[in-house]
Amino acid sequence: MDFQVSARKWRPQKFSELIGQEHIVRTLSNAIAMDRVSHAFLFSGTRGVGKTTTARILARVLNCETGPTVDPCGTCSLCREITAGNCIDVQEIDGASNNGVAEARDLIDNVQYATSSARYKIYIIDEVHMLSKSAFNALLKTLEEPPPRVVFIFATTELIKIPETILSRCQCFEFKPLSNAQITKQLALICGQEKIQIDEKGLVEISKIGAGSMRDAQSLLDQVIAYSGKKVDTDSVEAVLGIVGGTTLELFAQRLIQREPSELITVVQDVVNQGKDLHLFCQSVMEYLRNLLMVKVSSSPETLLNAQTCNLEILKKQAKEFHADELQQMFTILSRAEMEMKNTSLPQMVFEMAILKLTETRPFKKIDDLIRKINQAESNVQSIRPSPPPPSLSPPSSPPRSAADSFDPAAWIKIRQEVSRQRPDFDHYLDKCQPLAPNEKEIQLAFADSFTLEMVKTLENRKFIEDVVRSVSGHEVRVTLKLDAAADSPAAASEPKKKTTNDGGENRQKTESEIIQDALDIFGGIVVK
Ligand SMILES: [Zn+2]
Repeated sequence: MDFQVSARKWRPQKFSELIGQEHIVRTLSNAIAMDRVSHAFLFSGTRGVGKTTTARILARVLNCETGPTVDPCGTCSLCREITAGNCIDVQEIDGASNNGVAEARDLIDNVQYATSSARYKIYIIDEVHMLSKSAFNALLKTLEEPPPRVVFIFATTELIKIPETILSRCQCFEFKPLSNAQITKQLALICGQEKIQIDEKGLVEISKIGAGSMRDAQSLLDQVIAYSGKKVDTDSVEAVLGIVGGTTLELFAQRLIQREPSELITVVQDVVNQGKDLHLFCQSVMEYLRNLLMVKVSSSPETLLNAQTCNLEILKKQAKEFHADELQQMFTILSRAEMEMKNTSLPQMVFEMAILKLTETRPFKKIDDLIRKINQAESNVQSIRPSPPPPSLSPPSSPPRSAADSFDPAAWIKIRQEVSRQRPDFDHYLDKCQPLAPNEKEIQLAFADSFTLEMVKTLENRKFIEDVVRSVSGHEVRVTLKLDAAADSPAAASEPKKKTTNDGGENRQKTESEIIQDALDIFGGIVVK
């Protein structure tokens, strides 16, 4: 078997072959040229961006028989030994499994001995953040007064866990995540050399999922090649990576234009049934919305689109159907959902709820309209409550029956502001509830659907909302969570509220809820219904 994984086979062997870390290469090269090599380096950055690779190159740079040189020969015995990982003077240590003080002491003892054949004795410690506190302490003295010709190279994905005392004794380099373009270019190069036929669309998809990590992208490429052989088409890329293709996204956007909640949910279910990754689908929809926005705001959007899988003509046509601020609202809703999906055992439900919310977005209203409406709302509140008391949870006694249960809009606005300040993720649950105050001591939150009610009912959420209500009202209040009897129908949960135009002739309850909504429009910043 001569199969070698791409990440290993195509590992850069020289500084000039490193991708995306030019700032580091330049600094290191200058240090070598001026013979001012630090005795301790710390390389930090996300996985698969070249930290260990750079450490090995640096080992060759320092120890090559023709060196120290920024361009090691690659053929001398030391270069070859270092590349093969069996050079006795270049030790690679896994910090995760050698993290105790005993291992650190062994290392320090070993440091004292002269090199056997190389110029420098080099210790590459990977995952160095895993060392125990006492192991770090044991290392400190050696780092302070290292024996001559000893170089430590530490690598970590978690810079924050490295003690300040260590950081201050190292020359630190931060490795950047690679851009999709950099990864795509490298994958194209590998495929060219390996005689793999694949189009750019496929490479772009792989790069995107690699998310800045060259190593991850290369192993995804290996998987795709293992699946389809030397001829790779976009379908097999999508199948292996579990991603949803452009056609599905176009269809999804079309359903969004038509505001068809049930059709949108059907698309989601199809995606799940095909075994695709819902989380990736959410990200793809976000990207699609972004592309629609770019098409909307730019006269030459071609260069701004970040997925070659999009059909520009269709994008242009669909973009006309959305307002720019609607697209932004939708993007915000999905980015919230995307975060929540990571922390729940029910990601599909979270995603579906978010999608239903997408169909309820509306363009922002003009600020003049809002001011006019809020003035109107204030005078309406005055008429319900002739002498307004300081913010309290319920209106004064003897109001009309329908208003008896209603809730002071000012207090509700304060509650919403406090909720969105403390827990932006929680805020949208309250979009689906009607606040009621049957008496001074109680507030009832009536939710439009049972899913939202259940989410809010969890112990943690329940305590949170109770605390906020108490802190806003300033006294003990009982918070009751219930299902809104009026809204408790499947239609209410799955369809946007269709506002009719007969604004004036509704009953008192309707007027009140509209007042709250108008106020929310201004103070909450986003019009969601
Ligand atoms: Zn050499």
